[in-house]
Amino acid sequence: MANHCDENSNLIGSSLKIPTIKFTKLFINGEFVDSISGKTFDTFDPRTGEVIAKVSLGDAEDVNLAVKAARDAFDHGPWPRMSGSVIDIATASRTLRYYAGAADKIHGTLLKLSKGLQGYTLKEPIGVVGSIIPWNFPTAMFFMKTAPALAAGCTIILKPAEQTPLSALYYAHLAKLAGVPDGVLNVVNGYGCTTGAAITSHMDIDKVTFTGSTEVGRKIMMAAAASNLKPVSLELGGKSPLLIFDDADVDQAADIAFRGMFFNKGEICVASSRVFVQEGIYEKLEKKLVERAKATVVGDPFDPKVHQGPQTDKKQFEKILSYIEKGKTEGATLLVGSNRVGQKGYYIEPTIFADVKDGMTIAKEEIFGPVMCLMKFKTMEEGIKRANSTTYGLAAGIITKNLNVANTVLRSIRAGVIWINCYTVFDMDCPYGGYKMSGFGRDFGLEALDQYLQIKSVVTPVLNSPWY
Ligand code: NAD
Repeated sequence: MANHCDENSNLIGSSLKIPTIKFTKLFINGEFVDSISGKTFDTFDPRTGEVIAKVSLGDAEDVNLAVKAARDAFDHGPWPRMSGSVIDIATASRTLRYYAGAADKIHGTLLKLSKGLQGYTLKEPIGVVGSIIPWNFPTAMFFMKTAPALAAGCTIILKPAEQTPLSALYYAHLAKLAGVPDGVLNVVNGYGCTTGAAITSHMDIDKVTFTGSTEVGRKIMMAAAASNLKPVSLELGGKSPLLIFDDADVDQAADIAFRGMFFNKGEICVASSRVFVQEGIYEKLEKKLVERAKATVVGDPFDPKVHQGPQTDKKQFEKILSYIEKGKTEGATLLVGSNRVGQKGYYIEPTIFADVKDGMTIAKEEIFGPVMCLMKFKTMEEGIKRANSTTYGLAAGIITKNLNVANTVLRSIRAGVIWINCYTVFDMDCPYGGYKMSGFGRDFGLEALDQYLQIKSVVTPVLNSPWY
């Protein structure tokens, strides 16, 4: 918990404190300001459903102010023109360090042109970036989007999800303390259909990077096309398969599968929500997974004994429960879970369905909650075919000791990230993003930097060359 929170905090349990919330306004041009309308919206504690803060609600006019600041900072300020090595972003974050390390290594290519010409390419910052992020990892998302854009020399207007505006405001405050010039990084809170839409349709925003649902991703692409044709990159939803082969160590496979699905209470886009188990070890694996689910303690995340906390809000909670009902009515076998835990807050038991058919709603749609679909398969070919029978293509996992099987499966699965004998492993240097309706573009890696750069080709004649 951050140091700034220590004063005036409320004690809960024996040692943990609820932080006092300092930043609830919009962050524009280096200042925390009220929205022009003066309106606010509530942000909730998912443990209790109670309001913890009222946050300034931005709309199109506030987005205009932020764009003006980012545009001025981009057109007239030093940020895009500074040498990458000046930039000394003194934070402990690996993402910031990675991209800070990359900032002075952005360069173009020398071109071999036809006789009498010489040329080279320059990589230039794309300009003012609009960044729209979801609520499930508010900190990681903030840095995943801002670090490469800043390293490329862009300026930013970031809209956090309406459910989680507070951490982004605190990081904006830290950025200011670290010396990021005014206007370079702006945070405008608000709802998707107003603040988000104002960003995506803005004529003076040069690029939009989005992480969120496929449904909203489609709207964002349409808004970008209907305005100034700004390029977009989309990190969208998933329904990721994990294939476990007969030669797997059952304990290890159960551990990987369980964590892959229930990490962050299933609110993770790469969740291994479709677990395909080869028939030879199916019974043993199913037993292990059920035992693990039963042993999971669901409750207040501030309690160190708890494994799984509340879903993020009421809407998400109700959506997950309705998918569980669909699973039951469509004929899947409920092995464990499915119930609400407690009467307050948004807690749901880890839930596992067996006998799930590929065409069932719970096997096709992203639930974004603690619900696993277990499926049995016979041959590798069948496993590959069924793993690919989805409109999504974000991630996939393979558990086997057979290198030939792993190689065949990894090349056959249409997904942007493949984990072999592990799951949900991220590294700054590993580009991350989707195939198919999970989007396009990449976060992390040097590939993410390229999304914030554009290429300028320079050509000049060589006069009086001694070589021609
Ligand atoms: P969401 O798509 O509902 O919202 C994401 C963001 O988009 C929010 O900030 C929201 O306010 C904004 N938004 C909503 N409507 C908009 C509009 N019309 N114009 C502009 N912005 C708009 O998603 P969510 O519920 O916040 O997050 C869950 C989804 O995000 C899941 O589908 C999950 O898979 C996906 N996700 C993907 C990744 C990834 O890296 N691929 C990571 C995390 C979450």
